[in-house]
This record gives sequence, C-alpha cells and structure tokens, in this order.
Amino acid sequence: MNIIMMGAQGTGKGTVAGLLKQGLGLPHISTGEIFRKNIQENTELGKMAKQYADEGKLVPDEVTNEMVKQRLNEEDCVNGFILDGYPRNTNQAETLDNILAEKNTQIDLVVNLNTPQDEIIERVMARRECPKCKRVYNMILKKPKEGEICDDCKVALTKRADDTEEKLQTRLDTFFKETTPVIEYYRNKGIVRDEEISISINRFGEDVARDIINSIENK
Ligand code: ADP
Ligand code: ZN
Repeated sequence: MNIIMMGAQGTGKGTVAGLLKQGLGLPHISTGEIFRKNIQENTELGKMAKQYADEGKLVPDEVTNEMVKQRLNEEDCVNGFILDGYPRNTNQAETLDNILAEKNTQIDLVVNLNTPQDEIIERVMARRECPKCKRVYNMILKKPKEGEICDDCKVALTKRADDTEEKLQTRLDTFFKETTPVIEYYRNKGIVRDEEISISINRFGEDVARDIINSIENK
C-alpha cells in the first residue's frame, strides 16, 4: 500500500504518518526530516538544502525528486510506504508517478488533512522538538511530562529554525499556491480521503489514524 500524507503545516501529517507506520508496518518517509538530518550532518545535500529550508522555501525539484527516488528504491519500501511532505508541486507529483510506474506500482491513497488557519498558526508556534532523539512535542497538544524537556533524553526542547511566524507564512503561501493543485491532481484520480483535524471538533491525529487503519483492515 502506497500512501501520501497531504495537508498544510501543523495539521499533523507527521503524527498521523507515525501512527500509520506503527499500525500498517510501512516506512514513514518525511522529506523535511531527511533534509533536516542532512543539514545537521552537514552533508553536500544538507549544505545545498539549508539555503532553501532556512528561508521556508522549497528545495529545487531535481534535488528532491532524485532524493525520493533513491529512498523509494530501498528495500523497506517493497511492500509500500507513507510519504510525508512529498510531492509538494505538480512536477513532483508527475515525477513520482513515473518513478512508481517503473516499479509497476502506483499511489493507492492520499490522506488530505485540513485544519482551520488560525489553529494552524497556534499549533506550529507551540511545536518543539528534542535536539537529540528528534521526537516532536507540542506545548498545546502533546506536552512533555516536565516543562520543555524531552521525556526520554531529559534535554531542553528546541524550536525548528523555520517555525517563526514570518517563515511559517512563507511556507503556508507556498503550500496554498503550489501544493493545493497536487491535491486536485489526485482528486481527479479518485484516491483522496479528506480528514478534518481540529481542537474545535475534538478530532486529533490519533482519531484519523485509527479510522484509516480500521478502514484498510476491513477492506
Ligand atoms: P513544513 O512544515 O514547511 O511542511 P517540512 O518539515 O515538510 O516543513 O520541510 C522542511 C523544509 O524542507 C521545507 O521548508 C523545504 O525547504 C524542504 N522540503 C521538504 N519537503 C520538500 C519537497 N517535497 N520539495 C521541496 N522542498 C522540500
Ligand atoms: Zn529526546
């Protein structure tokens, strides 16, 4: 089963993907995480990506497409995968179709997460991560047990460099301009599952992941 997670920043793509990974036994591939890891390790790819990621801009397609192609060729993807943060524009979506066609496979499901705009900003501003184990916390939704300290590593949590209001606005603008057409691209193929995630309706990533796993298992 090949799944794509779609949705604006802070909707909970990573959370839902992590739970689907556990429930379905598929690898969770986050392009944002791969870039951040390379930036931290100062690899050639990281040095290149940093200039874009720091500004909240997309890394050029040639680089991103090639990186995803290589990742999908790894052995753990033979039974499927959960893509999170890719594709982000129609060029990437078409490239992905070609990569998969070469493997005689295709995207089966696109989960489209929606969250009200003002809630998005609140959620992203409350996001923290452990610099050591990379676990993601949220000071509103998923607080650590004590203060702003990782439950496991006991080190102070940090904010992502691009989680400022200004950079978030750039990322949201890019999302609405470039990524929204990708949802329509998949909608035309009839494989989009729309999901609302919002405190106002008391529906969270955990609820969405549970429902998706149930519907896949009951098929
Ligand atoms: P966001 O919260 O903005 O969705 P991500 O963690 O998904 O952030 O990605 C962080 C950064 O990594 C992006 O701002 C961008 O620079 C880069 N990136 C991630 N995925 C892609 C992609 N599919 N295409 C181009 N750049 C990407
Ligand atoms: Zn930690």
